[in-house]
Amino acid sequence: MSKENLSGHHEFKAEVKQLLNILVHSLYTNKEIFLRELVSNASDALDKLRFESNKGSEIIDNDQDLEIKIAFDKEKGTLTITDTGIGMTAEEIVKNIGTIAKSGSADFIKQLSDSKEDANNIIGKFGVGFYSVFMIASEVTLKTKSFKKDEKAVMWTSDGLGSYDLVELESDKKRGTEVIITLKEEEKEFADKHRIEHIIKTHSNFISFPIKVEDEVVNTVSAIWREPKSSVTKEQYDEFYKFLTLDYTEPMETIHRSVDAPIQFNSLLFIPKKNMDMFGFNRDDYGLDLYVRRVLIQHKNKDLLPEYLSFVKGVVDSEDLPLNISRETLQENLVFTKISSSVTSTVLNYLEKLSKDDKEKFAELWREHGKVFKLGYSDYANQEKYSALLRFNSSRCEDAKGLVSFDEYIENAKEDQKEIYYLAGSSREAVELDPHLEIFKTKGIEVLFFLEPVDEFAVSAVPKYKEFELKSVDQADLSKLDKFESEKVEDKSEEMTKDDEKSFDKLLKRIQNILGDRVTDVKESKRLKDSPACLVNPDDSMSASMQKMMQMMNKDASVPKKIFEINKNHKLVRNLIKIYNKNAEDDYIITVVEQLYESSLLLEGYLTDPHKLVGRINKLLENSSDWYTEINK
Ligand code: ADP
Ligand code: MG
Repeated sequence: MSKENLSGHHEFKAEVKQLLNILVHSLYTNKEIFLRELVSNASDALDKLRFESNKGSEIIDNDQDLEIKIAFDKEKGTLTITDTGIGMTAEEIVKNIGTIAKSGSADFIKQLSDSKEDANNIIGKFGVGFYSVFMIASEVTLKTKSFKKDEKAVMWTSDGLGSYDLVELESDKKRGTEVIITLKEEEKEFADKHRIEHIIKTHSNFISFPIKVEDEVVNTVSAIWREPKSSVTKEQYDEFYKFLTLDYTEPMETIHRSVDAPIQFNSLLFIPKKNMDMFGFNRDDYGLDLYVRRVLIQHKNKDLLPEYLSFVKGVVDSEDLPLNISRETLQENLVFTKISSSVTSTVLNYLEKLSKDDKEKFAELWREHGKVFKLGYSDYANQEKYSALLRFNSSRCEDAKGLVSFDEYIENAKEDQKEIYYLAGSSREAVELDPHLEIFKTKGIEVLFFLEPVDEFAVSAVPKYKEFELKSVDQADLSKLDKFESEKVEDKSEEMTKDDEKSFDKLLKRIQNILGDRVTDVKESKRLKDSPACLVNPDDSMSASMQKMMQMMNKDASVPKKIFEINKNHKLVRNLIKIYNKNAEDDYIITVVEQLYESSLLLEGYLTDPHKLVGRINKLLENSSDWYTEINK
């Protein structure tokens, strides 16, 4: 088999040039993270080698210790990082270093170009990868030899400006990679023992291979998740968390657990203070690191926890999985599935306890991670625990910040109340003005506010909590509210005469006549107190907001037909009856009905063309200004 000869001069791909340009020209002050990146690559390469070895692959130079060495020359201003990992073939160098494949760097660029934040705030939080070395290097040489038999060692050189050179080496280089850095004149301070040791301690202390500077191991190299809880200090936990996540603040919560039976595993989990999905599109960047007997099997495994708990970071290590397990078959492994369901329970139980012991803290956690958590409505196995942890704003809360659980709702419910009522809308202000809420306010019945689209999906999968059915207020069977006394004094609207009652019925028919098949029915309203009219879904269909959402998903722009309810105690409606009594065909009735109908559509989010409505309002204002000047004469 002939191999393409890759020796020679190569241009970097456009996106690499872009990244290099950002890194080299940013005024980022914490440039030392380049060492964190190179050490992390060396450690990855060693992890991969161990993985190959466990699989039984043939490996050259197998007598070498698995370690990372850092050497420096103060005079020359050079720094060399050597590892005995898997190394790279020429093809692999071109693929891995010449382009941006999956690495942290790709996310980094995306974040930068999608956000308005400047590079400075982002660089430190990201694994920016190999190229960060050019923040401090005028030239980098990489000598590497793959673990595979019959591969030649290769040398890669670049000044990071736009191109690189590759040469095959005939040397006796052993397996692994050596990164030789010529420091820029103004960055020579990095070629210093204390500086290097300090950087390693700060950023790479928990790398699980020895990092040697002048033959001295400088990192901790212990797997703290395997130590007994009592022997690990808060500082160590915090330090490990920062190392793991690149977060610069301590975690909000630390959950360390060791299980012996029926399956042995240790888990060290953290809940970050801040949602790390910084700009909302970093969705794939989650998962726990899976170890088997201290050997890293997979970074960011996505099956140890369900996606809705993806805000949890950490590691899981088991004695009971085979070391040579392949990542592809993990999900079918019975031991693995048991571990993963146990890890999930650990997190849910912890959250449950926290929500009871420290409401303040749980509320804080909810505000940060609740959005992600709500996506758990499809975890049927844990539905009860999941539902108990949900929090919503409600009509009982003083402002939009308040949070209520289903259990608290039930505690506060009326005697005999069998339903949990909710109302979906875009903001607290919007739902508070929703006419459907009026009767609930009058009767003092709490209504949960669903202010995010996911809320309704969540309850559509969880239609009941304990014995309570979840009901949208616009679908509620109002006869069930009859048994509850009004708490507020109802306005003393005048009793209607028998004749007016009859006229009202006729007026309803007239309204039906005006609106034609735009509505399914026109009825007297039992739910309205302050508003003259509203639209209501015909029984048993979806709630208004759910219907709206489905329509949006189906790109359906039609206006659904609903029942138009009229509040006969409203002053406007009483006046309409008078007008109707005088002249059933009065044009003013048409104007008012059209206006009430379009206002209701507007509230429900279905009014696509506001021109008619605005024209009508202007006309009505003009008329009322006549009246206003008349009475203020
Ligand atoms: P990432 O580590 O996120 O993949 P990097 O830019 O740090 O991104 O590295 C790019 C790739 O180069 C790595 O994925 C790896 O394949 C390869 N690489 C870098 N350093 C080494 C090394 N010391 N040994 C083997 N491969 C390496
Ligand atoms: Mg890397």
